[in-house]
Amino acid sequence: MTPDLQNLLRNLPAVDRLLTVVQARLSEVWPTSLLTAEVQQRIAALRVQILRGVLTELPNLETIAADLITDLAKFRRSSLRRVINASGILLHTNLGRAPLAAAAMEQIQQVACGYSNLEIDLISGRRGSRHDHVEELLCRLSGAEAALVVNNNAGAVLLALTALGKGKEALVSRGELVEIGGSFRIPDVMEAGGVILREVGSSNRTHLHDYQQAIGPQSALLLKVHTSNYKIVGFTHSVTAAELVQLAAEANIPLLEDLGSGLLNPLPGNNLPHEPTIAEAVASGVDLLTCSGDKLMGGPQAGLIFGRQKWVEKLRKHPLARALRIDKLSLAALEATLRLYLTGEECQIPLIAYFAADAECLLKRSRCLMPQLESLGFEVELVDDVAMVGGGSMPGVELPGPALALRSDQFSPDQLSAALRGSSPALVCRIHDERLLLNLRTVDPQEEPLIVEIFKALAPQGSDEVKPDA
Ligand SMILES: *Cc1c(COP(=O)(O)O)cnc(C)c1O
Repeated sequence: MTPDLQNLLRNLPAVDRLLTVVQARLSEVWPTSLLTAEVQQRIAALRVQILRGVLTELPNLETIAADLITDLAKFRRSSLRRVINASGILLHTNLGRAPLAAAAMEQIQQVACGYSNLEIDLISGRRGSRHDHVEELLCRLSGAEAALVVNNNAGAVLLALTALGKGKEALVSRGELVEIGGSFRIPDVMEAGGVILREVGSSNRTHLHDYQQAIGPQSALLLKVHTSNYKIVGFTHSVTAAELVQLAAEANIPLLEDLGSGLLNPLPGNNLPHEPTIAEAVASGVDLLTCSGDKLMGGPQAGLIFGRQKWVEKLRKHPLARALRIDKLSLAALEATLRLYLTGEECQIPLIAYFAADAECLLKRSRCLMPQLESLGFEVELVDDVAMVGGGSMPGVELPGPALALRSDQFSPDQLSAALRGSSPALVCRIHDERLLLNLRTVDPQEEPLIVEIFKALAPQGSDEVKPDA
Protein backbone atom coordinates (compact mmCIF):
# COMPACT_ATOMS: atom_id res chain seq x y z
CA MET A 1 0.00 0.00 0.00
CA THR A 2 1.36 3.38 -0.97
CA PRO A 3 1.84 6.07 1.67
CA ASP A 4 -0.73 8.21 -0.20
CA LEU A 5 -3.33 5.51 0.14
CA GLN A 6 -2.55 4.99 3.81
CA ASN A 7 -2.84 8.69 4.33
CA LEU A 8 -6.25 8.86 2.67
CA LEU A 9 -7.56 5.94 4.72
CA ARG A 10 -6.26 7.48 7.90
CA ASN A 11 -8.05 10.73 7.11
CA LEU A 12 -11.46 9.10 6.63
CA PRO A 13 -13.81 10.67 9.19
CA ALA A 14 -14.81 8.69 12.25
CA VAL A 15 -18.48 7.66 12.42
CA ASP A 16 -19.22 9.86 15.43
CA ARG A 17 -17.63 12.89 13.86
CA LEU A 18 -19.52 12.64 10.58
CA LEU A 19 -22.74 11.86 12.44
CA THR A 20 -22.35 15.01 14.55
CA VAL A 21 -21.84 17.18 11.46
CA VAL A 22 -24.83 15.58 9.71
CA GLN A 23 -27.11 16.05 12.71
CA ALA A 24 -26.04 19.67 13.11
CA ARG A 25 -26.92 20.42 9.48
CA LEU A 26 -30.28 18.62 9.42
CA SER A 27 -33.42 20.68 9.72
CA GLU A 28 -35.69 17.69 10.43
CA VAL A 29 -35.36 15.00 13.05
CA TRP A 30 -34.32 11.56 11.80
CA PRO A 31 -33.90 8.39 13.86
CA THR A 32 -30.28 8.20 15.06
CA SER A 33 -30.13 4.51 14.17
CA LEU A 34 -30.96 5.30 10.55
CA LEU A 35 -28.45 8.16 10.38
CA THR A 36 -25.72 6.05 11.98
CA ALA A 37 -26.28 3.27 9.45
CA GLU A 38 -26.13 5.79 6.60
CA VAL A 39 -22.93 7.36 7.97
CA GLN A 40 -21.29 3.95 8.36
CA GLN A 41 -22.28 2.99 4.84
CA ARG A 42 -20.97 6.26 3.42
CA ILE A 43 -17.59 5.87 5.12
CA ALA A 44 -17.35 2.24 3.98
CA ALA A 45 -18.11 3.32 0.40
CA LEU A 46 -15.38 5.96 0.52
CA ARG A 47 -12.93 3.35 1.84
CA VAL A 48 -13.72 1.05 -1.10
CA GLN A 49 -13.21 3.91 -3.55
CA ILE A 50 -9.84 4.72 -2.01
CA LEU A 51 -8.68 1.09 -2.14
CA ARG A 52 -9.77 0.81 -5.77
CA GLY A 53 -7.76 3.91 -6.54
CA VAL A 54 -10.75 5.86 -7.89
CA LEU A 55 -10.66 8.39 -5.07
CA THR A 56 -7.39 10.27 -4.87
CA GLU A 57 -8.56 13.20 -2.81
CA LEU A 58 -10.93 13.03 0.14
CA PRO A 59 -13.93 15.42 0.01
CA ASN A 60 -14.11 17.60 3.09
CA LEU A 61 -16.37 16.68 5.97
CA GLU A 62 -18.99 19.29 5.09
CA THR A 63 -19.28 17.96 1.54
CA ILE A 64 -19.61 14.36 2.67
CA ALA A 65 -22.32 15.39 5.13
CA ALA A 66 -24.17 17.51 2.53
CA ASP A 67 -24.20 14.62 0.03
CA LEU A 68 -25.49 12.25 2.65
CA ILE A 69 -28.27 14.64 3.60
CA THR A 70 -29.32 15.05 -0.03
CA ASP A 71 -29.52 11.29 -0.35
CA LEU A 72 -31.80 10.99 2.68
CA ALA A 73 -34.66 12.02 0.39
CA LYS A 74 -34.69 8.42 -0.88
CA PHE A 75 -36.26 7.34 2.42
CA ARG A 76 -39.26 9.59 1.87
CA ARG A 77 -39.82 8.58 -1.75
CA SER A 78 -42.29 5.75 -2.33
CA SER A 79 -40.99 2.77 -4.17
CA LEU A 80 -44.49 2.01 -5.45
CA ARG A 81 -45.54 5.05 -7.42
CA ARG A 82 -47.72 6.42 -10.13
CA VAL A 83 -47.03 5.61 -13.75
CA ILE A 84 -48.58 7.18 -16.83
CA ASN A 85 -49.06 4.36 -19.29
CA ALA A 86 -48.53 5.52 -22.87
CA SER A 87 -47.56 2.02 -24.02
CA GLY A 88 -50.95 1.34 -25.58
CA ILE A 89 -51.18 -1.91 -23.61
CA LEU A 90 -54.49 -1.71 -21.79
CA LEU A 91 -53.94 -4.40 -19.20
CA HIS A 92 -50.30 -4.53 -18.22
CA THR A 93 -49.78 -6.84 -15.27
CA ASN A 94 -46.45 -5.13 -14.52
CA LEU A 95 -48.24 -1.77 -14.44
CA GLY A 96 -50.87 -2.92 -11.98
CA ARG A 97 -53.50 -4.09 -14.48
CA ALA A 98 -56.77 -2.12 -14.47
CA PRO A 99 -56.86 1.50 -13.24
CA LEU A 100 -59.83 1.98 -10.90
CA ALA A 101 -62.91 4.10 -11.47
CA ALA A 102 -63.30 7.27 -9.42
CA ALA A 103 -66.29 5.70 -7.65
CA ALA A 104 -64.11 2.78 -6.58
CA MET A 105 -61.46 5.15 -5.25
CA GLU A 106 -64.06 7.09 -3.26
CA GLN A 107 -65.36 3.88 -1.76
CA ILE A 108 -61.84 2.82 -0.74
CA GLN A 109 -61.35 6.22 0.88
CA GLN A 110 -64.62 5.87 2.84
CA VAL A 111 -63.83 2.39 4.08
CA ALA A 112 -60.10 2.80 4.65
CA CYS A 113 -60.04 5.96 6.72
CA GLY A 114 -62.29 4.71 9.46
CA TYR A 115 -64.11 1.64 10.69
CA SER A 116 -66.65 -0.08 8.49
CA ASN A 117 -69.45 -2.64 8.59
CA LEU A 118 -67.16 -5.18 6.93
CA GLU A 119 -68.50 -8.10 8.97
CA ILE A 120 -71.38 -6.70 10.97
CA ASP A 121 -75.05 -6.58 10.04
CA LEU A 122 -75.95 -2.99 10.92
CA ILE A 123 -79.68 -3.81 11.21
CA SER A 124 -79.46 -6.64 13.72
CA GLY A 125 -76.09 -5.70 15.18
CA ARG A 126 -75.01 -9.29 14.74
CA ARG A 127 -72.01 -10.69 12.99
CA GLY A 128 -72.22 -10.56 9.22
CA SER A 129 -70.09 -11.77 6.35
CA ARG A 130 -67.84 -9.66 4.16
CA HIS A 131 -69.18 -11.58 1.19
CA ASP A 132 -72.68 -10.20 1.74
CA HIS A 133 -71.59 -6.82 0.32
CA VAL A 134 -71.07 -8.22 -3.17
CA GLU A 135 -72.78 -11.60 -3.48
CA GLU A 136 -76.16 -10.25 -4.61
CA LEU A 137 -74.49 -7.89 -7.09
CA LEU A 138 -72.44 -10.72 -8.54
CA CYS A 139 -75.51 -12.97 -8.84
CA ARG A 140 -77.59 -10.26 -10.53
CA LEU A 141 -74.85 -9.45 -13.03
CA SER A 142 -74.07 -13.06 -13.89
CA GLY A 143 -77.31 -14.95 -13.39
CA ALA A 144 -75.49 -17.35 -11.06
CA GLU A 145 -77.20 -18.93 -8.05
CA ALA A 146 -74.37 -18.04 -5.70
CA ALA A 147 -71.05 -16.19 -5.68
CA LEU A 148 -67.96 -15.79 -3.56
CA VAL A 149 -64.91 -13.54 -3.74
CA VAL A 150 -61.31 -14.31 -2.78
CA ASN A 151 -57.93 -12.60 -3.12
CA ASN A 152 -57.29 -13.29 -6.81
CA ASN A 153 -58.17 -15.74 -9.55
CA ALA A 154 -55.15 -17.95 -8.90
CA GLY A 155 -56.50 -18.29 -5.35
CA ALA A 156 -60.01 -18.97 -6.64
CA VAL A 157 -58.77 -21.81 -8.87
CA LEU A 158 -56.65 -23.26 -6.07
CA LEU A 159 -59.58 -23.12 -3.64
CA ALA A 160 -62.00 -24.69 -6.10
CA LEU A 161 -59.60 -27.48 -7.07
CA THR A 162 -58.75 -28.35 -3.47
CA ALA A 163 -62.30 -28.15 -2.20
CA LEU A 164 -63.67 -30.30 -5.01
CA GLY A 165 -60.87 -32.68 -5.83
CA LYS A 166 -58.22 -33.12 -3.14
CA GLY A 167 -56.72 -36.60 -3.37
CA LYS A 168 -58.67 -37.35 -6.54
CA GLU A 169 -58.37 -36.59 -10.23
CA ALA A 170 -59.28 -33.53 -12.26
CA LEU A 171 -59.59 -34.01 -16.01
CA VAL A 172 -58.11 -31.26 -18.22
CA SER A 173 -57.48 -31.05 -21.94
CA ARG A 174 -53.80 -31.02 -22.91
CA GLY A 175 -54.61 -27.93 -24.97
CA GLU A 176 -55.58 -26.03 -21.82
CA LEU A 177 -52.61 -26.59 -19.49
CA VAL A 178 -51.90 -22.88 -19.48
CA GLU A 179 -49.21 -20.81 -17.88
CA ILE A 180 -50.12 -17.25 -16.95
CA GLY A 181 -47.29 -14.78 -16.32
CA GLY A 182 -45.89 -14.85 -12.82
CA SER A 183 -45.66 -18.63 -12.56
CA PHE A 184 -49.33 -19.57 -12.44
CA ARG A 185 -49.41 -22.93 -14.20
CA ILE A 186 -52.44 -25.16 -14.15
CA PRO A 187 -50.42 -28.36 -13.45
CA ASP A 188 -48.56 -26.65 -10.58
CA VAL A 189 -51.73 -25.21 -9.05
CA MET A 190 -53.24 -28.70 -9.17
CA GLU A 191 -50.26 -30.15 -7.38
CA ALA A 192 -50.40 -27.41 -4.76
CA GLY A 193 -54.08 -28.21 -4.25
CA GLY A 194 -53.38 -31.93 -3.83
CA VAL A 195 -55.31 -32.77 -6.98
CA ILE A 196 -54.09 -35.36 -9.45
CA LEU A 197 -53.91 -34.01 -12.99
CA ARG A 198 -55.46 -36.32 -15.55
CA GLU A 199 -54.58 -34.99 -18.99
CA VAL A 200 -56.89 -35.79 -21.86
CA GLY A 201 -56.61 -35.34 -25.61
CA SER A 202 -53.63 -33.74 -27.31
CA SER A 203 -52.20 -30.21 -27.50
CA ASN A 204 -54.19 -29.24 -30.57
CA ARG A 205 -57.15 -31.61 -30.54
CA THR A 206 -59.31 -32.85 -27.71
CA HIS A 207 -62.64 -34.64 -28.27
CA LEU A 208 -65.55 -35.46 -26.02
CA HIS A 209 -64.67 -39.17 -26.18
CA ASP A 210 -61.23 -38.36 -24.74
CA TYR A 211 -62.95 -37.13 -21.59
CA GLN A 212 -65.44 -40.02 -21.64
CA GLN A 213 -62.66 -42.60 -21.76
CA ALA A 214 -60.70 -40.92 -18.96
CA ILE A 215 -63.60 -40.62 -16.51
CA GLY A 216 -63.44 -43.19 -13.74
CA PRO A 217 -64.05 -43.72 -10.04
CA GLN A 218 -61.07 -41.49 -9.23
CA SER A 219 -62.47 -38.52 -11.17
CA ALA A 220 -63.57 -35.66 -8.92
CA LEU A 221 -64.15 -32.92 -11.47
CA LEU A 222 -63.79 -31.70 -15.02
CA LEU A 223 -61.75 -28.53 -15.48
CA LYS A 224 -62.03 -26.23 -18.45
CA VAL A 225 -59.48 -23.42 -18.72
CA HIS A 226 -59.99 -20.42 -20.95
CA THR A 227 -56.81 -20.12 -23.01
CA SER A 228 -56.76 -16.40 -22.42
CA ASN A 229 -53.17 -15.60 -23.39
CA TYR A 230 -52.55 -17.74 -26.46
CA LYS A 231 -54.36 -19.18 -29.43
CA ILE A 232 -54.06 -22.60 -30.96
CA VAL A 233 -54.70 -22.30 -34.66
CA GLY A 234 -54.70 -24.76 -37.56
CA PHE A 235 -55.81 -28.38 -37.16
CA THR A 236 -57.62 -27.99 -33.87
CA HIS A 237 -60.61 -29.23 -31.96
CA SER A 238 -61.77 -28.52 -28.45
CA VAL A 239 -64.82 -29.53 -26.47
CA THR A 240 -67.26 -26.76 -25.57
CA ALA A 241 -68.38 -26.08 -22.02
CA ALA A 242 -71.93 -27.06 -23.03
CA GLU A 243 -70.76 -30.53 -24.11
CA LEU A 244 -68.79 -30.94 -20.91
CA VAL A 245 -71.79 -29.87 -18.81
CA GLN A 246 -73.69 -32.89 -20.02
CA LEU A 247 -70.78 -35.25 -19.47
CA ALA A 248 -70.19 -33.92 -15.95
CA ALA A 249 -73.87 -34.35 -15.12
CA GLU A 250 -73.85 -37.95 -16.37
CA ALA A 251 -70.75 -38.71 -14.31
CA ASN A 252 -72.22 -36.85 -11.34
CA ILE A 253 -69.12 -34.68 -10.90
CA PRO A 254 -68.86 -30.88 -11.12
CA LEU A 255 -67.49 -28.94 -14.06
CA LEU A 256 -65.21 -26.04 -13.11
CA GLU A 257 -64.28 -23.39 -15.63
CA ASP A 258 -61.39 -20.94 -15.19
CA LEU A 259 -62.55 -18.09 -17.38
CA GLY A 260 -59.45 -15.97 -16.72
CA SER A 261 -60.36 -12.51 -17.86
CA GLY A 262 -63.83 -12.05 -16.41
CA LEU A 263 -65.83 -9.99 -18.86
CA LEU A 264 -69.20 -8.77 -17.53
CA ASN A 265 -70.62 -7.06 -20.63
CA PRO A 266 -69.53 -7.27 -24.26
CA LEU A 267 -66.73 -4.75 -24.76
CA PRO A 268 -67.39 -1.45 -26.53
CA GLY A 269 -65.46 -0.82 -29.73
CA ASN A 270 -65.65 -2.25 -33.21
CA ASN A 271 -64.38 -5.46 -34.70
CA LEU A 272 -63.46 -7.08 -31.42
CA PRO A 273 -63.64 -10.87 -31.54
CA HIS A 274 -66.22 -12.51 -29.33
CA GLU A 275 -64.97 -13.04 -25.80
CA PRO A 276 -67.31 -15.12 -23.62
CA THR A 277 -69.00 -13.10 -20.87
CA ILE A 278 -69.46 -14.38 -17.35
CA ALA A 279 -73.23 -14.54 -17.86
CA GLU A 280 -72.78 -16.65 -21.01
CA ALA A 281 -70.46 -19.01 -19.19
CA VAL A 282 -72.92 -19.32 -16.30
CA ALA A 283 -75.78 -19.89 -18.75
CA SER A 284 -73.86 -22.69 -20.44
CA GLY A 285 -74.45 -24.63 -17.23
CA VAL A 286 -70.98 -24.95 -15.70
CA ASP A 287 -71.14 -25.74 -12.00
CA LEU A 288 -68.42 -23.32 -10.93
CA LEU A 289 -66.71 -20.48 -12.72
CA THR A 290 -63.74 -18.37 -11.66
CA CYS A 291 -62.20 -15.18 -13.05
CA SER A 292 -60.10 -12.13 -12.14
CA GLY A 293 -61.51 -8.80 -10.97
CA ASP A 294 -58.68 -6.67 -12.38
CA LYS A 295 -58.59 -7.86 -15.97
CA LEU A 296 -61.40 -7.07 -18.42
CA MET A 297 -63.81 -6.16 -15.61
CA GLY A 298 -61.65 -3.14 -14.81
CA GLY A 299 -61.86 -3.53 -11.03
CA PRO A 300 -59.44 -4.31 -8.21
CA GLN A 301 -57.44 -7.49 -7.75
CA ALA A 302 -59.92 -10.19 -6.79
CA GLY A 303 -60.85 -13.76 -7.60
CA LEU A 304 -64.53 -14.07 -8.40
CA ILE A 305 -66.31 -17.39 -8.06
CA PHE A 306 -69.79 -17.96 -9.50
CA GLY A 307 -71.88 -21.09 -9.59
CA ARG A 308 -74.35 -23.44 -8.03
CA GLN A 309 -75.23 -22.85 -4.40
CA LYS A 310 -74.11 -26.32 -3.36
CA TRP A 311 -70.59 -25.94 -4.74
CA VAL A 312 -70.07 -22.30 -3.77
CA GLU A 313 -71.11 -23.27 -0.23
CA LYS A 314 -68.52 -26.02 -0.19
CA LEU A 315 -65.81 -23.52 -1.18
CA ARG A 316 -67.04 -20.95 1.33
CA LYS A 317 -66.67 -23.43 4.19
CA HIS A 318 -63.22 -24.65 3.17
CA PRO A 319 -60.38 -23.54 5.51
CA LEU A 320 -58.44 -22.21 2.53
CA ALA A 321 -61.23 -19.67 1.89
CA ARG A 322 -60.18 -17.89 5.08
CA ALA A 323 -56.53 -17.88 4.06
CA LEU A 324 -57.41 -16.48 0.66
CA ARG A 325 -60.00 -13.96 1.76
CA ILE A 326 -60.28 -10.61 0.03
CA ASP A 327 -59.17 -7.53 1.98
CA LYS A 328 -61.58 -4.71 2.78
CA LEU A 329 -60.00 -2.19 0.40
CA SER A 330 -60.30 -4.45 -2.62
CA LEU A 331 -63.80 -5.40 -1.54
CA ALA A 332 -64.78 -1.72 -1.35
CA ALA A 333 -63.43 -1.09 -4.84
CA LEU A 334 -65.06 -4.24 -6.19
CA GLU A 335 -68.47 -3.34 -4.81
CA ALA A 336 -68.29 0.16 -6.33
CA THR A 337 -67.14 -1.23 -9.68
CA LEU A 338 -69.94 -3.81 -9.78
CA ARG A 339 -72.51 -1.10 -8.97
CA LEU A 340 -71.35 0.88 -12.02
CA TYR A 341 -72.14 -2.17 -14.15
CA LEU A 342 -75.49 -2.67 -12.45
CA THR A 343 -76.58 0.92 -13.07
CA GLY A 344 -75.27 0.97 -16.63
CA GLU A 345 -72.49 3.45 -15.85
CA GLU A 346 -69.55 1.21 -16.70
CA CYS A 347 -68.23 3.82 -19.15
CA GLN A 348 -66.89 5.47 -15.97
CA ILE A 349 -64.48 2.57 -15.60
CA PRO A 350 -61.19 3.70 -17.18
CA LEU A 351 -60.53 0.39 -18.92
CA ILE A 352 -63.95 0.41 -20.57
CA ALA A 353 -63.44 4.03 -21.66
CA TYR A 354 -60.07 3.08 -23.16
CA PHE A 355 -61.67 0.29 -25.17
CA ALA A 356 -64.39 2.68 -26.30
CA ALA A 357 -62.06 5.55 -27.33
CA ASP A 358 -62.32 5.93 -31.09
CA ALA A 359 -59.38 6.61 -33.35
CA GLU A 360 -60.77 10.02 -34.35
CA CYS A 361 -60.80 11.27 -30.78
CA LEU A 362 -57.32 9.85 -30.13
CA LEU A 363 -56.10 11.63 -33.25
CA LYS A 364 -57.39 14.98 -31.98
CA ARG A 365 -55.70 14.50 -28.64
CA SER A 366 -52.43 13.44 -30.27
CA ARG A 367 -52.52 16.47 -32.61
CA CYS A 368 -52.98 18.71 -29.61
CA LEU A 369 -50.00 17.22 -27.78
CA MET A 370 -47.75 17.18 -30.83
CA PRO A 371 -46.78 20.91 -31.07
CA GLN A 372 -46.24 21.05 -27.32
CA LEU A 373 -43.61 18.33 -27.57
CA GLU A 374 -42.12 19.81 -30.73
CA SER A 375 -41.68 23.14 -28.98
CA LEU A 376 -39.50 21.33 -26.46
CA GLY A 377 -37.08 20.35 -29.19
CA PHE A 378 -38.31 16.85 -30.03
CA GLU A 379 -38.92 15.67 -33.54
CA VAL A 380 -42.50 14.36 -33.53
CA GLU A 381 -44.50 12.52 -36.18
CA LEU A 382 -48.03 11.14 -36.15
CA VAL A 383 -48.03 7.45 -37.05
CA ASP A 384 -50.55 4.63 -37.22
CA ASP A 385 -50.28 2.31 -34.28
CA VAL A 386 -52.25 -0.44 -32.56
CA ALA A 387 -53.04 -0.79 -28.90
CA MET A 388 -53.17 -4.24 -27.37
CA VAL A 389 -55.29 -5.69 -24.60
CA GLY A 390 -52.42 -7.42 -22.76
CA GLY A 391 -52.58 -8.89 -19.27
CA GLY A 392 -53.07 -12.36 -20.68
CA SER A 393 -56.37 -11.35 -22.27
CA MET A 394 -57.56 -11.47 -25.86
CA PRO A 395 -54.26 -12.43 -27.53
CA GLY A 396 -53.75 -10.99 -31.00
CA VAL A 397 -56.51 -8.41 -30.62
CA GLU A 398 -55.39 -5.01 -31.92
CA LEU A 399 -57.10 -1.67 -31.38
CA PRO A 400 -56.02 0.65 -34.18
CA GLY A 401 -55.29 4.31 -33.46
CA PRO A 402 -52.60 6.94 -33.79
CA ALA A 403 -49.40 7.35 -31.82
CA LEU A 404 -46.82 10.10 -31.58
CA ALA A 405 -43.37 8.92 -32.68
CA LEU A 406 -40.59 10.91 -31.00
CA ARG A 407 -36.95 11.37 -31.81
CA SER A 408 -34.37 13.58 -30.18
CA ASP A 409 -30.87 14.67 -31.18
CA GLN A 410 -29.74 14.40 -27.62
CA PHE A 411 -31.03 11.04 -26.47
CA SER A 412 -31.20 7.62 -28.05
CA PRO A 413 -34.69 6.05 -27.80
CA ASP A 414 -33.42 3.83 -24.98
CA GLN A 415 -31.98 6.77 -23.07
CA LEU A 416 -35.18 8.75 -23.52
CA SER A 417 -37.28 5.82 -22.43
CA ALA A 418 -35.13 5.32 -19.32
CA ALA A 419 -35.29 9.03 -18.45
CA LEU A 420 -39.08 9.00 -18.76
CA ARG A 421 -39.33 5.96 -16.51
CA GLY A 422 -37.26 7.86 -13.96
CA SER A 423 -39.57 10.88 -14.03
CA SER A 424 -42.20 11.58 -11.42
CA PRO A 425 -44.76 10.36 -12.25
CA ALA A 426 -43.01 7.83 -14.42
CA LEU A 427 -43.98 7.67 -18.07
CA VAL A 428 -43.90 4.31 -19.83
CA CYS A 429 -43.78 4.22 -23.65
CA ARG A 430 -42.93 1.70 -26.33
CA ILE A 431 -39.97 1.84 -28.69
CA HIS A 432 -40.55 0.97 -32.34
CA ASP A 433 -38.32 1.56 -35.35
CA GLU A 434 -35.78 3.56 -33.35
CA ARG A 435 -38.47 5.92 -32.15
CA LEU A 436 -40.33 6.38 -28.93
CA LEU A 437 -44.08 5.78 -29.35
CA LEU A 438 -46.67 7.59 -27.26
CA ASN A 439 -50.07 5.96 -27.61
CA LEU A 440 -52.79 7.95 -25.86
CA ARG A 441 -55.39 5.15 -25.75
CA THR A 442 -54.19 4.14 -22.29
CA VAL A 443 -53.74 7.73 -21.09
CA ASP A 444 -56.42 9.61 -19.20
CA PRO A 445 -56.95 13.03 -20.86
CA GLN A 446 -56.23 14.62 -17.47
CA GLU A 447 -52.74 13.12 -17.61
CA GLU A 448 -51.78 14.92 -20.82
CA PRO A 449 -50.56 18.18 -19.17
CA LEU A 450 -48.43 15.98 -16.90
CA ILE A 451 -46.86 14.33 -19.94
CA VAL A 452 -45.85 17.76 -21.23
CA GLU A 453 -44.37 18.61 -17.81
CA ILE A 454 -42.38 15.38 -17.79
CA PHE A 455 -40.90 16.12 -21.22
CA LYS A 456 -40.24 19.72 -20.22
CA ALA A 457 -38.11 18.52 -17.32
CA LEU A 458 -35.80 16.61 -19.65
CA ALA A 459 -36.10 18.74 -22.78
CA PRO A 460 -32.95 18.93 -24.90
CA GLN A 461 -30.81 21.95 -24.06
CA GLY A 462 -31.25 25.02 -26.22
CA SER A 463 -34.95 24.33 -26.59
CA ASP A 464 -35.64 27.57 -24.71
CA GLU A 465 -35.02 29.40 -27.97
CA VAL A 466 -37.75 27.42 -29.70
CA LYS A 467 -40.84 28.86 -28.11
CA PRO A 468 -44.37 27.72 -28.95
CA ASP A 469 -46.04 30.30 -31.18
CA ALA A 470 -46.72 33.08 -28.73
C1 LIG B 1 -55.06 -14.31 -15.34
C2 LIG B 1 -55.46 -15.73 -15.23
C3 LIG B 1 -55.31 -16.41 -14.02
C4 LIG B 1 -54.71 -15.77 -12.80
O1 LIG B 1 -55.52 -14.75 -12.30
P1 LIG B 1 -55.00 -13.74 -11.17
O2 LIG B 1 -56.17 -12.86 -10.89
O3 LIG B 1 -53.83 -13.04 -11.76
O4 LIG B 1 -54.61 -14.55 -9.99
C5 LIG B 1 -55.73 -17.71 -13.96
N1 LIG B 1 -56.26 -18.33 -15.03
C6 LIG B 1 -56.41 -17.71 -16.24
C7 LIG B 1 -56.99 -18.45 -17.39
C8 LIG B 1 -56.02 -16.37 -16.37
O5 LIG B 1 -56.16 -15.75 -17.54
